Amino acid sequence: MIQVTRSSMPEYEEYCREIKSMWDTHWLTNMGAKHRQLEEDLKSYLDTPNIVLYTNGHLALEDAIAAMRLPEGGEVITTPFTFASTTHAIVRKGLKPVFCDIRTDNFTIDTDKIRGLITERTCAIVPVHVYGNMCNVSEIAKIAEEYRLKVIYDAAHAFGVRYAGESAANFGDVSMFSFHATKVFNTIEGGALCFKDEGLTEEFNDRKNFGIRNPEDVVFVGGNAKMNEFQAAMGICNLRHVDAEIEKRKKADRLYRELLGGVPGIKVPEISPDDAENRHNYAYFPVLFDGFKYDRDEVHERLKGHGVTARKYFYPLTSSFECYRGMDFADPGSTPAAAYAAERILTLPLYADLEAEEVRMICDVILG
Ligand SMILES: *Cc1c(COP(=O)(O)O)cnc(C)c1O
Repeated sequence: MIQVTRSSMPEYEEYCREIKSMWDTHWLTNMGAKHRQLEEDLKSYLDTPNIVLYTNGHLALEDAIAAMRLPEGGEVITTPFTFASTTHAIVRKGLKPVFCDIRTDNFTIDTDKIRGLITERTCAIVPVHVYGNMCNVSEIAKIAEEYRLKVIYDAAHAFGVRYAGESAANFGDVSMFSFHATKVFNTIEGGALCFKDEGLTEEFNDRKNFGIRNPEDVVFVGGNAKMNEFQAAMGICNLRHVDAEIEKRKKADRLYRELLGGVPGIKVPEISPDDAENRHNYAYFPVLFDGFKYDRDEVHERLKGHGVTARKYFYPLTSSFECYRGMDFADPGSTPAAAYAAERILTLPLYADLEAEEVRMICDVILG
């Protein structure tokens, strides 16, 4: 069996060494020593001035939105070609998603279509760096400044990515990373917010701990979204190996490209540059089937028959979710490029330990 991903784990002994001190301290959560160390390690790795860790990326995104003080019912421009989390976070914070279409070359928000969606109720943009491809961050910054909009990046896919010399952590007002088990870097479950305004550190730390600033001062109606010490220890260990893992992912990516690139009816999207100024993280390997002898669903089934799990990611569009049926914003017809991609895209298995022979086998099955 080959799964679409395989969670990175350190050697068993390495993790045991990392958690050993907890049997002395009995400090298991609430911003302990491991939590503090991981924050420092990540600030340095992500090259970012401010970070707050979370128990998962979704709750981090909800807090990022909450901290922007957006007006109740305000309109937030985003895309439906994403994971449930992005749209749900907007709706759960009492705001209205307004779906913008995507670019078909890298699946991120089509910045040419943003201005046409802005109304007097628009208060923010929540763009997604899809598959590790960065959005057009400079155009988004320009639009945000022109219309005074907040920008919260869903950077769940963009761990370790750099664009024009700058870390993916440092764009917009806030960027959310996910450290879920399936991501390039994991803390089992986990996430973080990165941001330029130092003043937000205290607010996020309060919000993730019931809004408690100190035992007698509760300043926000906060939830509980703290990262625990075992998660942080996993992160400390995994971070030591993440560069080597990305290098291995890159090898698999290259081989897939070599075997599938140029096949009529199979589109292997270009990835953003990976050079001195830019860095890609090889988080996913998306392939688009359009006019190939098998359609996307047939390829998915054929792979399954050979013990290979690929993922229709992202399908369906969040604007097609049953929970949003009947809502005035939920019209998949308004984003034809996103609808086109969702019907044809398949992400193939990609993880550090995926063997070259396995990549060849997967491609043989696809090419049938
Ligand atoms: C994984 C993911 C999230 C949510 O992160 P969790 O850590 O699983 O809560 C949000 N957005 C996108 C695009 C994701 O891929």
